[in-house]
Amino acid sequence: MRIVITGGAGFIGSHLCDYFISKGHHVVCVDNLITGNIKNIEHLFGNEKFLFIKHDVTNYIHIPGKVDAVLHFASPASPADYLKYPIQTLKVGALGTHKALGLAKEKNAIFMLASTSEVYGDPEVSPQSETYHGSVNPVGPRGVYDEAKRFAEAMTMAYHRYHKVSVRIVRIFNTYGPRMRLNDGRVVPNFIYQALTNKPLTVYGDGEQTRSFCYISDLVEGIYKLLLKNLPEPINLGNPEEMKIIDFARLIKKITKSKSKIVFKPLPQDDPRQRKPDITKAKELLQWTPKVSLEDGLKETIKYFKKIL
Ligand code: NAD
Ligand code: UDP
Repeated sequence: MRIVITGGAGFIGSHLCDYFISKGHHVVCVDNLITGNIKNIEHLFGNEKFLFIKHDVTNYIHIPGKVDAVLHFASPASPADYLKYPIQTLKVGALGTHKALGLAKEKNAIFMLASTSEVYGDPEVSPQSETYHGSVNPVGPRGVYDEAKRFAEAMTMAYHRYHKVSVRIVRIFNTYGPRMRLNDGRVVPNFIYQALTNKPLTVYGDGEQTRSFCYISDLVEGIYKLLLKNLPEPINLGNPEEMKIIDFARLIKKITKSKSKIVFKPLPQDDPRQRKPDITKAKELLQWTPKVSLEDGLKETIKYFKKIL
């Protein structure tokens, strides 16, 4: 296959580039580097199966030649990033998704949208299954991301129903691993960086809010399985092992053997109180289940952060 990956120089996107290249496919990575890093893909530059195009996908995307799949992963993803780039986040979710869908339609290619557990907002039910329609504050600071992704899902289904584009929607829950930016503001790089440099670990709120962390290699495998399956309905991918943020801080301290203190900072507005994926659908339809334990995944991630510190 020849696969276009928007956002391919980012954390998840660059792992997808590697994965598809390793399976013998051709990859065209399209990224404007707003939150990505050229270092994530530099090692692929000599490979004849890999092409990098620096481009903002909110504008028309021109790719000569055949394309079998378009994976639309471009979007700031860290809350700190989308608060810094609110308009760009809305634009890439709305206009960028429209352009990427247009490319898929023109090339008769499969389209995959990187959606998010944020479409569930601050959920009133747990775990969150794909049938839950969410509880999102459209005018809060996180609304720029949540609503852009909700619009992107609606646009994707419209192209599927009206233009008959073959689509996939993956609702990704908190995923972590090597190549996250040290300073991207998400909890995994924040805590690891703080622990490794003996700075206080900053727990927001009382730390009773929960998240469920999935290791990058598990997510990539699920994405590949989904791409090969004709499943237009949204599907959750994530690790259902749920943890309080305060316990996560303690775990990072333990694994890094850090002497850092834990300090409490104000909880950001609309920060979801709980998040745990119901992955029944992925298990049944994709025969997918995450394999990497939190401790093993964190050890790999910490190794990476030690290297780039
Ligand atoms: P990331 O910030 O590392 O990667 C996003 C990439 O998109 C970056 O390389 C950035 O430069 C690029 N980009 C942004 N706007 C663009 C534009 N207009 N044109 C071209 N490129 C653009 O984030 P990530 O964690 O790798 O997330 C990738 C995708 O997965 C995002 O769509 C995100 O919403 C989704 N997602 C991620 C998670 C997670 O836990 N990591 C969870 C849910 C959803
Ligand atoms: N968080 C925290 N300290 C930090 C960064 C994040 O306590 O230094 C909390 C944040 O408030 C949220 C959780 O960790 O409850 C996960 O935050 P992240 O930014 O990783 O992503 P989110 O799941 O909120 O999109």
